[in-house]
Amino acid sequence: MVALLAVSPASADIAADVVEADTYLGIWDDANFRGVDRPPDDIYDLFIDITGNADLDSRIRTLAEDRGYRRQPVANVDLVPVDGRLLQAPAAEAWEALQAAARSEGVSLILTSAFRDLRDQQFLFRDRLAGRTSDAGIEAALRLSAPPGYSKHHTGYAIDVGQAGEDRPGFVNTRAYAWLAADDFAQAKAYGFVPSYPADGALMGPDPEAWEFVWVGTGRIACALGAQFPTGFCDVGPGPRADDIAWLSEVGVTVGCAPGRFCPDDPVLRGEAASMLWRLYGAPAATEQAPFDDVFATDHFATAVDWMWSEGLTSGTSETTFSPDDLFTPDAALAVLLRVAAADLPETSGLGAPVVDFAADPVIIGDIGPQLGRAEFASILRATAIG
Ligand SMILES: [Zn+2]
Repeated sequence: MVALLAVSPASADIAADVVEADTYLGIWDDANFRGVDRPPDDIYDLFIDITGNADLDSRIRTLAEDRGYRRQPVANVDLVPVDGRLLQAPAAEAWEALQAAARSEGVSLILTSAFRDLRDQQFLFRDRLAGRTSDAGIEAALRLSAPPGYSKHHTGYAIDVGQAGEDRPGFVNTRAYAWLAADDFAQAKAYGFVPSYPADGALMGPDPEAWEFVWVGTGRIACALGAQFPTGFCDVGPGPRADDIAWLSEVGVTVGCAPGRFCPDDPVLRGEAASMLWRLYGAPAATEQAPFDDVFATDHFATAVDWMWSEGLTSGTSETTFSPDDLFTPDAALAVLLRVAAADLPETSGLGAPVVDFAADPVIIGDIGPQLGRAEFASILRATAIG
């Protein structure tokens, strides 16, 4: 939990700004999340039916898109169970922290919906439609619910919240909502959540929904508000891991995830992890070619994976796969780093003094949680760079 907040700007920095509805909507639309998959629209339509009647489905899609609904990607990684539901790991961690903060101030906040798959949404939307086929009937359903394929809940980053005993329309009048919404959603934003369908939002799909929030991470919020920090990344404010990220960047091990951004709360992918580890050791040549048929010569991590194979640092996810786009799990990271500690590798000299000996004391990195974030991996790499 500390890691989640420490790397990001203080809540006070974010709370000070008043954010337009369009800005909230834009942060979500531009987020480029990990752990989700977005097939092309025509492929989507082939396997997602709404009512089962192709003509009616096509009319529903047109009316939905006219209201501002957009296709949403679908979670394609293991989600984390929380309060009997499923969320992407960073969103789950942030939700638990937000709920605890509410509780510490005597505010009751409960999770009423999280991840929904296409089938769940199809069931829900058909229920809203209740057999109506007129444009007016479809519009009435669309004001309340997204058709399958258009719900932010598919990503695993959206939550519906409530206060015990209050249904959705009543939530806006609760103490829990007042707490969340105070100072332009300062509490929600401090934990990386923004309103999903804000009160004055236009062309966003449904009518405004006071109860739905989406996790985008405090870093994306800071960047959207024009934050500037000494690290050079708009999403890495002061905090314990900021030094590690700045150091990695300085020695050329990472240049961030996009121009001016590090994406500290995003999970590390296996190919990306290979590339960063390899560069930490000076980007050496590989003596052997790895036998993985899902790593191509044009991939930016191709030599890194060959090097890891040559040095015995990886055995892949099977005899023929490395799965470079899968999440680099904390368990996999620990296994690799213990192999690094045991291997006869060149020193990562010239990179500055070691901070901690990770191999001797893995716990020193802190509580990583179910998923390894980029900021956490930065700390681990710096700790590993024993010169
Ligand atoms: Zn919702």
